[in-house]
Amino acid sequence: MSRLVMKFGGTSVGDVERIARVARIVAAERKPGRGLAVVVSAMSGETDRLVGLARASAGETPNGGGLPAKDFNDEYDVIVSTGEQVTTGLLALALRRIGIPARSWQNWQIPFRTDDAHSKARIFEIEESELGASMDAGVVAVIPGFQGVTDDRRITTLGRGGSDTSAVAVAAALKAERCDIYTDVDGVYTTDPRIVPKAQRLEKISYEEMLEMASLGAKVLQTRSVELAFAHRVPVRVLSSFVEPGEPNPGTLVCPEEEIVEKQVVSGVAYSRDEAKVTLLGVEDHPGVAAEIFDALANANINVDMIVQSEARQEGRQNILFTCPEREAARAAETIEAIKGKIGVDEIHIRRDVAKVSVIGIGMRSQVGVAKTMFAALAQKGINIEAIATSEIKISVLIDAAYTELAVRALHTAYGLDAA
Ligand code: ASP
Ligand code: MG
Repeated sequence: MSRLVMKFGGTSVGDVERIARVARIVAAERKPGRGLAVVVSAMSGETDRLVGLARASAGETPNGGGLPAKDFNDEYDVIVSTGEQVTTGLLALALRRIGIPARSWQNWQIPFRTDDAHSKARIFEIEESELGASMDAGVVAVIPGFQGVTDDRRITTLGRGGSDTSAVAVAAALKAERCDIYTDVDGVYTTDPRIVPKAQRLEKISYEEMLEMASLGAKVLQTRSVELAFAHRVPVRVLSSFVEPGEPNPGTLVCPEEEIVEKQVVSGVAYSRDEAKVTLLGVEDHPGVAAEIFDALANANINVDMIVQSEARQEGRQNILFTCPEREAARAAETIEAIKGKIGVDEIHIRRDVAKVSVIGIGMRSQVGVAKTMFAALAQKGINIEAIATSEIKISVLIDAAYTELAVRALHTAYGLDAA
C-alpha cells in the first residue's frame, strides 16, 4: 500500500469550475494500492473576508480598537477555519460526482492535534490510523489545511499560509511517498520570473536551499512547511494546478541533497524589500554591550537578521548596524533608546529604503570565488553594498532598494542562470 498527499491552494480552488478540475487531477492519481489524501485551502479571498468579519465583530476599526489578543484569538480561529471546511465539502462532492468515493475529515475528526497558541498554533501529532485505513480502502480523504484542535477540543489555526504545513505534516504522519503541492505557479524558479523573464524552473532543489529561498522571500512554500519536510525527509513536489491531467506538469521536486547529482554553485537569487537598517553610532566598546543590545531586541520580539560591527573613529567606541523587518524598525529604535544609558550610543539612524538580495546554492560549500563573482557583478552596475551576511550555502547583501531589480538581474546572469 502506498499513500500520496496532494495539496491545493486558494486560487486552485477559487470557484466551482476550478474545484471540478482539482477533482479530475485527483482522479488521475488514483491507482490500485495507493491511498490518497487531499489537503485544501479556503477559496481565494475567503480567509481575508473571514478575518475582516472577525475584526469587525470585535470592534476593531481602521484606527485601532477591538479586543486584546487573549480575548480574540480563540474565536478568530473558529471563524477563519471555516473557509477550509467549506472547500473540503465542495471537493468531496465534486469527486463523488465523477464517481470517486471521497469524504471530508474535519480537524477534530482526525484529530489533527496542536498546541493552544491560537492563530499561530503548532502541530504535535496527527492520529492517522482511522484516516489512513479509510484512504487505504479507496476513499479519497479531503482534509482542511491551516487548522487543528487542542487537547481541550478548541479549534486552532496555524498562521496564514499554513495549509502547506498541514499538507507536509499529514504526509509525514501517513508516511506518504510524496507531498504534491499544486499551486498557481508551475514550480520553483531560479528567481522571480516577473523580474527576470529568463528565470528557469528548477527540476530539483534541496531542502536546505528551499528553506533559504522561502525565508529570504520566495513565496512558493511556507517556510515552516519546508522545515517540516526537511525534518521528516518528505519529498515535496511543487506543480501547477492549472494544467489538465495528462498534459506535462513536471514541477519542482524538493528533496534531500544526495538526490541532486549536478550541484549548482548557485541555484537561485532571492530578494526582499521588507528590510530596514538600524545604525547605532558610537556605542561603547567593551564586553557585554552586544549582549545587552540584542537581548533587549529579542525581548521586544524584534526579528534581527544581518549584524555588522565595526570600529568607530573615536577611541573605545564602535558602530553597530543591524537589519529587521520594516514594520519593526521604529520599535527597534525605541528599544535601543531605552537602554541608551547602559550602552552609551551617540546616534541612532533608521533607513527603510534598503533591500536584501541573496544568492543560494549547496555547491557553494565546495567552491571558492562565489562571493567575488557577486561583488564584481554588483560593482559593475555601480551598486553599493551596505552590509553582507553569509552562511554555508548563502550570501546576502543589503543594498539601496531602488537597485533591487537591477541587482537580481545582474546576479542571475553572472551565475549563468539565464535561460538560453
Ligand atoms: N487559507 C489560509 C490563508 O489564506 C491558509 C492557506 O491558504 O494556506 O492564509
Ligand atoms: Mg500559500
